Amino acid sequence: MAGALLLDAALENIPYGFCVWSPQFRLVMWNKHYRDLYGFDAGAIQRGMTLEELIDLSSSLGNHTDTTPADFYESYTADLLANRSGARCKNREVVRGGRTVETAHVYSEALGWVVTHEDITEEIARSEVVQRRKLELERQNIRLDAAVNNISQGLCMMDARGRLVICNEPYARIYNLPERMIKPGTQLEDILGHLFDVGMSASGTREEYITWRREVIARREYGKTVHELNGRTIMMQHHPMKDGGWVSTHEDITEQRQNEARIRHLARHDALTDLPNRIEFLEQMGKTEAALGRGEMAAVLYIDLDHFKAVNDTLGHAVGDEVIKQASARLWGTTRETDLLARLGGDEFALLMRPVESAADAARVADRIIKAIGAPMMIGGQQIEIGASVGIAVGPGDGVKTDTLVKNADLALYKAKSEGRSTYHFFEAGMDANLQQRRAIEAGLRLALQRNELRLVFQPLLGLAENRISCVEALLRWEHEGRTISPTEFIPIAEETGLIVPIGEWVLREALKTASSWPADVRIAVNLSPVQFKNRDLVTMVRSALTDARVSPTRLELEITESLLLADSETTLKALHDLRGMGVRISMDDFGTGYSSLSYLRSFPFDKIKIDRSFMADLTSRDDSQAIIKAVIGLGQSLGMSTTAEGVETDEQLAMVRAHGVSEVQGFLFSPPLASTQLANLLRSRNGKARKVAS
Ligand code: C2E
Ligand code: CA
Ligand code: CA
Repeated sequence: MAGALLLDAALENIPYGFCVWSPQFRLVMWNKHYRDLYGFDAGAIQRGMTLEELIDLSSSLGNHTDTTPADFYESYTADLLANRSGARCKNREVVRGGRTVETAHVYSEALGWVVTHEDITEEIARSEVVQRRKLELERQNIRLDAAVNNISQGLCMMDARGRLVICNEPYARIYNLPERMIKPGTQLEDILGHLFDVGMSASGTREEYITWRREVIARREYGKTVHELNGRTIMMQHHPMKDGGWVSTHEDITEQRQNEARIRHLARHDALTDLPNRIEFLEQMGKTEAALGRGEMAAVLYIDLDHFKAVNDTLGHAVGDEVIKQASARLWGTTRETDLLARLGGDEFALLMRPVESAADAARVADRIIKAIGAPMMIGGQQIEIGASVGIAVGPGDGVKTDTLVKNADLALYKAKSEGRSTYHFFEAGMDANLQQRRAIEAGLRLALQRNELRLVFQPLLGLAENRISCVEALLRWEHEGRTISPTEFIPIAEETGLIVPIGEWVLREALKTASSWPADVRIAVNLSPVQFKNRDLVTMVRSALTDARVSPTRLELEITESLLLADSETTLKALHDLRGMGVRISMDDFGTGYSSLSYLRSFPFDKIKIDRSFMADLTSRDDSQAIIKAVIGLGQSLGMSTTAEGVETDEQLAMVRAHGVSEVQGFLFSPPLASTQLANLLRSRNGKARKVAS
């Protein structure tokens, strides 16, 4: 009995529910755990109770409610009956409180079915958590792998013992690592050796390289290093980790470096010509200051293209750009290796010559520049002639400081331009004062119209066939502060400032008003500036001036210079044709001085060619002048254009141009420009005067 008691105590204390069913499905034995699992009170179950009764009771207590007691009984007994082989057979049931109980039964002939019942609710929950964690980790690893392989940088992680933990594809690619070296566990030495082999070290032996790299790693420094590898630039960053390992990132920054260099270059160079720009030029010049201070000589040449504005305005920016490019190439050809050529903007270039022996060196280069730029350019099948003016300042004499030298070269350039362009000029003390004067002219000119300071003088043109005054040219004068300023001095300023537009209109109206009192067979010639053609209302303005003065359009001659036709710009040509359509005559002034006079004769049917007076001045001294005059007159005759010889001062010149068949002469020999009253007198007595000259 003591044995039975002992067994009872043991059964009571085993940590799971326990019961025995006889082969007739009668309850034989159970323990407290069993009761607790299903909620049976101490007296509620007895020995000999049928399985059916127990199931009814159990169901009423909230166990296995997922099925009916009858169904449960049926499947339970079927299970038990099916397993009488002595093997352990497991099942699960859901008991009160939603807990899961795992049952296992074993059959023996002597006892029947011994069934154990174990609450595995917690265990299930635990294993679910583990399962979830496992999935999560897997997902995270997939994400990590994707991240590691998708970053563009190379990434490599090493553990504290210098073994590869992970690296990505870009890392392998940057260093051309073979397959076997990207496997986890690869030794640092193997990788370093490989890096040496592919050229990561510029000097030293393989061993030295490995030792050096190991030392860097051992110092456990965070750091960035940049190294060159077969022409590529690689940036490496090293991040030590707490556990003694480290992560390194590797980035091919070749393109980035190149872009940065390009941006730096662009900021300091002109996009069109790739020459240094103003910023770069001034900075480089700043570096010359010290040498100048020691007495070394350097020259600054300021170069400005002549007539560039006209080319740009009339032929368009594309042609303008091409001119700048060709000009810069030609300028480049005149420089030495130590010189610095820059494009300062627009059509302005600067050349720093360092060092120079003497001012004469700079003059020689300036001369070469003027010749180089002066040669015709072929652009888009078109021949374009443009020139260059150069201003020179030589340091230290003309200044040591960059600012001073540049300013003085600019002043000298201004002087060169005012001297008729395509020439160079050195800086001279006092040029500043001249510039001030120019500013004063500019300011005065703005007020000239309203102050009535402008007046016209009139120079007659003698028609040789008719032997009478056929035409009179109106020439502008400016009476300013007690002196008469020449149009050659102020017209360029009026053009630059745009003042020529109102001034030109005043000239036309005034000239027509004066001419309206002359005999109807005397024409009036008025000079038009190219700038006036930019004004779209030019034709309307001319028409209204003619109407207002009641002068027939056929009596008006408009003189234009070749520079207007540098381009046969559509609008310019249309204006010319419109004017001509009204009956106005168009003359080409200063023929032979400009760019390529002959070709311009083809672009518009001029009525008159005025041969520039420089040919007249050279007539007796130069044979080619005579040949040119003869040719131009012949050309005019064959094209049906009349010709005027300008600047006829001597009988000899008159005889010559008359012999070649020129239509008209203009010049001091016959008459200088006259005040309107004097001219009116001359017109009244013109036959007498004319005969005197003509005979
Ligand atoms: P241009 O149209 O060639 O005018 C002729 C210039 O030659 C005038 O100078 C005249 O005085 C000068 N001249 C006439 N006969 C002789 C001579 O026998 N020998 C010499 N050496 N010179 C002679 P001016 O009046 O000083 O005019 C200079 C230039 O100014 C003109 O050259 C013309 O281009 C411009 N200009 C004058 N008036 C006007 C104007 O109203 N509007 C515009 N846009 N330009 C004008
Ligand atoms: Ca003229
Ligand atoms: Ca002229």
